[in-house]
Amino acid sequence: MRRATICGAGIAGLTLAWWLTRDGWTVTLVERAPGPRGEGYLMDFFGSGYDVAERMGLLPTLTDRASPVDELVHLSPSGRRTGGLRYAAMTGVLGGRVLSLLRGDLESALRTVQKTPPRYGVSVAAAVPRGDRVDVELTDGTRHTADLLVGADGIHSRIRELVFGPEARFLRPLGFRTASYLFDDPDLAAWLGTRFAVIAAPGRQAGVYPTGRGGLAASLIHRTPPAARRIGSSGTGPPLAALFAGLGDTAARVLARCPAGPGLYDDCVAQVEMTSWTRGPVTLVGDAGYAVSLMAGQGASLAMGGAWLLAHHLAARPGDVPAALSAYQAEMLPFTRRKQLSGRRAAAWMVPSTRRRLRLRDRLMSIGDLPGGVALLRPLMATTAAGLPALTAVPRTGNIHGHE
Ligand SMILES: Cc1cc2nc3c(=O)[nH]c(=O)nc-3n(C[C@H](O)[C@H](O)[C@H](O)COP(=O)(O)OP(=O)(O)OC[C@H]3O[C@@H](n4cnc5c(N)ncnc54)[C@H](O)[C@@H]3O)c2cc1C
Repeated sequence: MRRATICGAGIAGLTLAWWLTRDGWTVTLVERAPGPRGEGYLMDFFGSGYDVAERMGLLPTLTDRASPVDELVHLSPSGRRTGGLRYAAMTGVLGGRVLSLLRGDLESALRTVQKTPPRYGVSVAAAVPRGDRVDVELTDGTRHTADLLVGADGIHSRIRELVFGPEARFLRPLGFRTASYLFDDPDLAAWLGTRFAVIAAPGRQAGVYPTGRGGLAASLIHRTPPAARRIGSSGTGPPLAALFAGLGDTAARVLARCPAGPGLYDDCVAQVEMTSWTRGPVTLVGDAGYAVSLMAGQGASLAMGGAWLLAHHLAARPGDVPAALSAYQAEMLPFTRRKQLSGRRAAAWMVPSTRRRLRLRDRLMSIGDLPGGVALLRPLMATTAAGLPALTAVPRTGNIHGHE
């Protein structure tokens, strides 16, 4: 029986655990958090992630949990509409194969289909590759030898640090920080309806949208000067309310609900760039190895796509883990490089630094709502949403690895 240890029970780790268990591996899935995490932000879920979810039979559950948001509206701090986009335009361009999901809902859907539950409150303390196997010590003091160790532990990966080197060598900050949190405000929710409202000024923007359960979620992004491109999580910078002051009444109301500590996601916006993320029987999947950042808008999708691709190559080469990992990396690395490049290009427009660029961004954003605008968006979105070639080549149901 082949044994795999996966560090991190997020989107990539849960997806990989499902595929490996299905293929007969004994899987140990460890997660640092003390229990399932509900916090999250809204993600546009399309491309490879959508394709993998379909092959896992998850689409009915995910469609059920999809967010009610149907329009993005851009507002000035005084509340004037400056641009926007109906989601139907984007859905149409992607042939209906897109969902708006809270990250926590995707994670919970992946969790409910697991045969082996994650071990919460446990991480990897040490990992020593020895030939084609790896000695693993967990933080609960237990040790074992695995045929495969996968770091699926996100942008600040512990496995990457243990096996490949310090974070600073691989993290490419894009010059922004982002924060998000869930909160309740029935009056604001009634005013918002099914819209995702974004209030922008040069270099910063505050967004608010309904979660679908009567609650709201905040999404804050601001540019950081190069010297302040701090890496790491919450609590290290000036208070968010000060950073987003002057964006008008709605933004102030959203900021007033910002929690301190638990429930607040606050981190730098960064990509992970590695020339190799495989060493012997150790590899990385998802943000740990190739984070594209929220600017590319498909990190969860690539986490699921990569997990599937890794399982696909392992199933194709049952006796040779290192060869399977090399094949996975050879296919995934150039694919993620293209997505990272398009993410960096999008970053210039996501939070414009001047009023002129802000106006231009809002005009471009509204193209989809103009007659013929969808036709203009189609080639752009087709490139953005392009899925893994190996995945698009296999049927959506049945022979799911394409080589059995
Ligand atoms: C604001 C924002 C908006 C985004 N929007 C989108 C979008 O629209 N579409 C999209 O597809 N993606 C989006 N993303 C990106 C997406 O959320 C990530 O790319 C995706 O979650 C990556 O999945 P992952 O499993 O690799 O990492 P994560 O989801 O971060 O999961 C990593 C897991 O590992 C655990 N972990 C961390 N360290 C350890 C350790 N030492 N030991 C054990 N466990 C550990 C963590 O607790 C976590 O559970 C967005 C991200 C942000 C921040």
